[in-house]
Amino acid sequence: MPADDTQTFDSTVYYDDDADPSHIADKTVAVLGYGSQGHAHAQNLSESGVNVVVGLRESSSSRTAAESDGLRVETPADAAAEADVVSVLVPDTVQPDVYENAVEPNLEAGDTLQFAHGFNIHYNQIQPPEDVDVTMVAPKSPGHLVRRNYENDEGTPGLLAVYQDATGDAHDEGLAYAAAIGCTRAGVVETSFREETETDLFGEQAVLCGGVTSLVKQGYETLVDAGYSPEMAYFECLNELKLIVDLMYEDGLGGMWDSVSDTAEYGGLTQGDVVVDEHARENMEEVLEKVQNGQFAREWIAENQAGRPSYTQLRTAEKNHEIEAVGEELRGLFAWQDESEEDDEETAEVTA
Ligand code: NAD
Ligand code: MG
Repeated sequence: MPADDTQTFDSTVYYDDDADPSHIADKTVAVLGYGSQGHAHAQNLSESGVNVVVGLRESSSSRTAAESDGLRVETPADAAAEADVVSVLVPDTVQPDVYENAVEPNLEAGDTLQFAHGFNIHYNQIQPPEDVDVTMVAPKSPGHLVRRNYENDEGTPGLLAVYQDATGDAHDEGLAYAAAIGCTRAGVVETSFREETETDLFGEQAVLCGGVTSLVKQGYETLVDAGYSPEMAYFECLNELKLIVDLMYEDGLGGMWDSVSDTAEYGGLTQGDVVVDEHARENMEEVLEKVQNGQFAREWIAENQAGRPSYTQLRTAEKNHEIEAVGEELRGLFAWQDESEEDDEETAEVTA
């Protein structure tokens, strides 16, 4: 099921000096969607001097936001029709529909289809004609940071991939797009649609979103089942995770080990692999295989077509886990709550 795609593992990193802005400067970019990524790409491109038109449905509540940010808004079809580059930044699950109805009929030879994630191209949910360029510029960060960093003259690291180069200009244009949204200020890594899609799915399932929440819940349950208080279990297994991850983010695993006590380091080094053992590794390999052979993609597409029955159930079960009620109560009692609520509001605003 995955599309045939040349895999590149050379880790070329591009910076501002490598990008030639003229490859995007005189083009019109249609940014479809004004959510997390859309609002950031549209405003950054526009302030970099690129002609931007935002594509949103007549009924979209994001229209007012885009217009008050000084951007021109058209329907997705009209925006795609006038654009040289169509940046598809609506949710991945609605992209095939938006592509079929609004984009495909308006693509001309030499246009560019631009993505921020490879799922629909890699798993053949969108099959572009051969005479257009297909590129990906994927900031490795939520959109509100892509925007905030740009405003602060800072960059956001990103990925660049070319799936199809019909014009011979796909790579240079993609790099110029990455520069215009601020990514080459920080560094842009060359990858492929296949590599980006498969590592992204594996990472969020096995480690980041799936793996870490299972680890937290099972740690919490182990302590509570053994008779310890839910409050202590919450602090130990969830709250302190942020402090540990911050250290790893700043200075790698070594930075974290250096900052914790020798007792924590010795216990962690001896017991970590007891918990996440070779079975976990075998399970990870299975998860990766389902990503690679398209089984996960097929399952997720079918789940959406069926109206998300299991997804809805799983979401409810997660919401009802005891750790959520305990956490809500505890977070209400402590001062850090205000700060994180501000962050949440900001995220909610830009994704609404
Ligand atoms: P989002 O959910 O934040 O925003 C979606 C936007 O699309 C909204 O403006 C919404 O109004 C609009 N929309 C929804 N349904 C629509 C429809 N049927 N027709 C037209 N418009 C519609 O999306 P996002 O998180 O910015 O994701 C966009 C792309 O960026 C995805 O491919 C995603 O994988 C990728 N990406 C996201 C992040 C992130 O942190 N959010 C990071 C990197 C890449
Ligand atoms: Mg066009």
